[in-house]
Amino acid sequence: MSAMLIDGKALSARFREEIATDAQSFEKRTGRKIGLAVILVGEDPASQVYVRNKVKACEQTGVASYGYYLPKESTTEDVLELVNALNEDEKVDGLLVQLPLPKHIDEKRVLSAVSPLKDVDGFHAVNAGNLLLGNECLSACTPSGIMELIATTGVDLCGKNAVVIGRSNIVGKPVALMLLSKNATVTVCHSRTQNLKEITRNADVLVVAIGKKEFVTGDMIKPGAVVIDVGMNRDEGKLYGDVNFAEAKEVASYITPVPGGVGPMTITMLLKNTVKAANFGQK
Ligand code: NAP
Repeated sequence: MSAMLIDGKALSARFREEIATDAQSFEKRTGRKIGLAVILVGEDPASQVYVRNKVKACEQTGVASYGYYLPKESTTEDVLELVNALNEDEKVDGLLVQLPLPKHIDEKRVLSAVSPLKDVDGFHAVNAGNLLLGNECLSACTPSGIMELIATTGVDLCGKNAVVIGRSNIVGKPVALMLLSKNATVTVCHSRTQNLKEITRNADVLVVAIGKKEFVTGDMIKPGAVVIDVGMNRDEGKLYGDVNFAEAKEVASYITPVPGGVGPMTITMLLKNTVKAANFGQK
């Protein structure tokens, strides 16, 4: 058996067409473009690539992007001052601070300073809390993208066993809540989980977000499972997932490739959140 590929690139392209249409009609209605502000502190090369990709995605969809590049010596107060100014700036609908911040900057204080109405990354406690409560909110982008990818398989999550490996605030926890909201029976595993294989072999849907190259092997997967690989592990210039793709594709029914699975959807969901935030502003 060979699993069907869940094509994140193709889904992302479809979504970006819709986003471009929404951005155009917003501009017609209001006389201005939807705007996304991105703050990057320092010169971390990976972060520079992520920011460049976000700016490029904005250009493709007709969203205005405003990049703010602060030197690595900036203080927490410097970043807070900029965040506060952008919170008040009417041309800015979405605001994100690229992580990781340099170690001397208080990340928690900075993230809590972003207005929840502009928090297009969905990292603010208000948005995380609203996700928990099942309220309308700006939800974290990677988990939202994962849910859209699962939806393309047509698999009904109601009553299914969903297992998430990883419990980070940006992927594992929010995706577990989203799966729960679709009535899956959810198990969250982490580095202290015992008998991991026993648990994962019972998963109808397996989401893997741990950051360890090819950690999940074929024998850990239930035959016919839907496997979502969030991992992005670079090794000698090549990108690897957290799942051993060659083995997993022989057991799973559907699987996301790395690259070309979850990755492209993350920025797309960021743009979708920016459109949503712009429309909050119009209410
Ligand atoms: P993270 O904050 O480092 O969290 C990793 C999680 O994996 C932790 O909860 C950790 O458990 C768990 N873990 C580590 N080793 C484990 C093991 N041996 N068995 C079971 N669980 C284990 O990572 P993250 O930010 O969620 O990211 C995870 C991966 O996804 C990374 O490769 C990252 O690059 C990738 N990612 C991709 C995208 C995308 O757009 N494609 C977006 C975000 C992240 P403890 O909590 O017990 O330490």
